[in-house]
Amino acid sequence: MDLTRRELFKLSAVAGGGLLSPLGFDLEPAYAATRQLKITNAREYKTVCPYCAVGCGTIAYVHGSGGLNTVPTIVHVEGDPDSPINGGTLCPKGASQMQLAISPRLQKSPLFRDAGASEWREVDWEFAMDWFARRFKEARDATFVERDDQGRTVNRCEGIAWVGSATVANEDAYHITKTMRALGLIYIDHQARI
Ligand code: SF4
Repeated sequence: MDLTRRELFKLSAVAGGGLLSPLGFDLEPAYAATRQLKITNAREYKTVCPYCAVGCGTIAYVHGSGGLNTVPTIVHVEGDPDSPINGGTLCPKGASQMQLAISPRLQKSPLFRDAGASEWREVDWEFAMDWFARRFKEARDATFVERDDQGRTVNRCEGIAWVGSATVANEDAYHITKTMRALGLIYIDHQARI
């Protein structure tokens, strides 16, 4: 049977909630079985889509967790029906979020560009964290204000701003805010407000 794409769509009509093949078979059980096969024996991890400030609840299905000589691999991601944010739905971008974990193009180590250089180079995490901590301290020391122009004690750092991420959970956000406030930062915001 030769079918154009448009004719195939017409024939594959969704009738009474059931998806029919061009030959009249009900495809829904087949689709459901395929999905079940994919996640059989997978572990479920509840997580949050990292892509935008909506923060949709997500379930990631992982194979190979804990077994001898296995490498944990995400095999499927879907919206979390228990999430009050998205009720089980994901937008197309969120539905592809497993690529963040399994894409061969994933950058797994920090990249660093030396001052004046045009190329980035790979560095290890220890280098990156040392560099960040040193720059943070230098900026804080240089811009810390103990008293305002009227002599009032303010003890604030005016030279650093911190922006939270949509992937930061409430507990992380609490610790980040406390830490930044302890360091004197006053410019603290979150991606959800941008
Ligand atoms: S699924 Fe879409 S709307 Fe939801 S957080 Fe991810 S990117 Fe945002």
